[in-house]
Amino acid sequence: MLKAPNNNNGVTFLADAMLGSIARKLRVFGFDTLYVAHAHDNEILKMGIDQNRVILTADKELFKRIVKAGTRGVLVSCSSDAEDLVHILSKNGITSIDLNGIGSRCSICNGLLTGRTPEQVKNAIPDKVAACHSEFFQCVDCSKVYWEGGHLRRLRTLAKSVDSKLGRAVTAT
Ligand SMILES: [Zn+2]
Repeated sequence: MLKAPNNNNGVTFLADAMLGSIARKLRVFGFDTLYVAHAHDNEILKMGIDQNRVILTADKELFKRIVKAGTRGVLVSCSSDAEDLVHILSKNGITSIDLNGIGSRCSICNGLLTGRTPEQVKNAIPDKVAACHSEFFQCVDCSKVYWEGGHLRRLRTLAKSVDSKLGRAVTAT
């Protein structure tokens, strides 16, 4: 049985326009993550404060303003997704992540995923997928359907790498 992970530790994120790929991965790893592609720095700052979200940005000027405002943020260096994720999570006290299941949030829209039978999703997936898979999840907000596949295996490899680095990051401090 596929299970949805719960890694969030109560931490929620707000990613700025440059960090779409990071935002999608955080969602798959179970973190409530808003992604704002078109917003002024002022709006991002206000949204982060109002919703008590950790603001993720690669913009040094915005990060300075986050610190000055006394709210939470992480300056992301855009090295590699794995390094960036380790940096973001360790800064927020998250010591491990786990992706055995399919993820608990929609990578597209941040909606929650819920288990579905093949019958329930057959109109939303290709026949071949319906024939080869028996377990599905569907986003309650945008209705995107998820199932086991190569994409998920790659994400699981990334999760494993991030998890082992997180362990080391904690031992080092
Ligand atoms: Zn969705």
